[in-house]
Amino acid sequence: MRALLVEDDNDIAEDVARALTGAGYLVERASDGESAWFMGDTEDFAVVVLDLGLPVLDGLSVLKRWRAAERTFPVLILSARSAWTEKVDGIEAGADDYLAKPFEVGELVARVRALTRRAAGHASSVLTIGRISLDTRRMAVLIDGVVAKMSPLEYRLIDYLAHQQGRTVSAGELADHLHGADGAVDANAIEALVARIRRKIGRDAIETRRGFGYVLSGA
Ligand code: CA
Repeated sequence: MRALLVEDDNDIAEDVARALTGAGYLVERASDGESAWFMGDTEDFAVVVLDLGLPVLDGLSVLKRWRAAERTFPVLILSARSAWTEKVDGIEAGADDYLAKPFEVGELVARVRALTRRAAGHASSVLTIGRISLDTRRMAVLIDGVVAKMSPLEYRLIDYLAHQQGRTVSAGELADHLHGADGAVDANAIEALVARIRRKIGRDAIETRRGFGYVLSGA
């Protein structure tokens, strides 16, 4: 799943990006409010981590603009100050969660995971679709309770489909979420990746809806 990380402190951004990448997210970064706003306005993200103190345009204004434009992705805000008024302002502007600096990067990852799960309507860290279980904490895919070995890219594809609750996803949307908007990946590459995954989890586990895309049935 694609995550947008908006943070102007390069050291913090590096740490968070590394941890989120390790947790299976495709991380894209912005370091000022204006470019963050533009990315969030034009691209699709599963979750956003947004620092409040940003150059050009502050984080709270970015968030307000996104929400005014009905951008509904879950947003976790970060602040250097632990002032409760800032937390209230952030939540009233449409933030879903809040973390004060300094924070443990492990806590941030756990909160980001919870946000993406909740956005997909799952309360538990294990998602079950038919015979398939996705243990998002261990980044493991299980078929009838047995772990199937997946490459990080294969895991990300199953993870994305599992969070869609039976919605059919086009090859183009999958390519965006696996490689980002800049990655030039065509439908054939996605088809090949799906074919590799089917060899591991069963032919019918991912259905192809001709002309529409893919859906995880777990059959
Ligand atoms: Ca900052």
